[in-house]
Amino acid sequence: MGSGFSQCASSLRKPCRPSIITISQETTSLVPDFNSHDNNINLFTSVFVTNLLETAEYKLNSHEYNKSINLLLRATQLGSACAATKLGSIYLNGFTTTSPDYNSAAAYYFIALKFTLMIPHSSWDIDIILDIVCALTKLYNNLLSNPKNLDILNHGLKLMSEIDKNLQHPYFIRICSYKQNQKRRASRIHINYCHAITAESKGDLLGTLKGFEECELIGQCGIESADKLIKKSYVCMQRLDSTRPKVNPICIQCNYEAKDLIDIWNLLNCTKCNNNVVCCGRECLNEHIMITHLGRP
Ligand SMILES: [Zn+2]
Ligand SMILES: [Zn+2]
Repeated sequence: MGSGFSQCASSLRKPCRPSIITISQETTSLVPDFNSHDNNINLFTSVFVTNLLETAEYKLNSHEYNKSINLLLRATQLGSACAATKLGSIYLNGFTTTSPDYNSAAAYYFIALKFTLMIPHSSWDIDIILDIVCALTKLYNNLLSNPKNLDILNHGLKLMSEIDKNLQHPYFIRICSYKQNQKRRASRIHINYCHAITAESKGDLLGTLKGFEECELIGQCGIESADKLIKKSYVCMQRLDSTRPKVNPICIQCNYEAKDLIDIWNLLNCTKCNNNVVCCGRECLNEHIMITHLGRP
């Protein structure tokens, strides 16, 4: 143990030609592509990381949390998305003696997503992605209660959007087996659900509707956690629909006619008219109240 990095480094320090550095035109990533079936790619690191992960799992099961975390940190430094995901889950669930640390959990899950985005999507491990977005759904539900977390949440949404874009790529869909495709769709549902609940907490109606609608469009996928979110999305859409003004969508004051659903949602009811009248905005509503209900011209 402990020789992994130094052995790697010494093999790179071979007696090469002095002072001439040639840079390969090939695009390379520092993150080892563990899912690539090319045996020459980072084989040594790959074996080393596998050992680290196995030992970390053993330590975790024997409740040696700090030792397990250190091993996982080492594997994360070497670019293992799996190790970063494992760290995320340790912080999300808390060890037996400590309470969950949502911010650290989010940080490690985001690292795992970043590592995933650094390798070609044909090498993605859909199981890890589904694990991450399932955990992030739980995390987002907890983090949303505090407005101070908005930066963290937005950062995660950006990464998840990138993942979502790749998950919709025709090539990626084509190389997925039936089971993988179910997990791919489940991952997309979790991602769009996180978008919807974050948008709702920000009062962004359009974002909320788009997120929930996308979940419904992707549809039941046979993965329980995701199918539950579709039901939740449906209930949320119904709840939002019940707040939509059910009257003629024309501003009583300036005759502006709302054109689409979002527009209709943004109309303001006049409570003094028993919600039978709507205005296009605050200005018209104030004017209407002033003239109709306070009798001032
Ligand atoms: Zn108006
Ligand atoms: Zn009124």
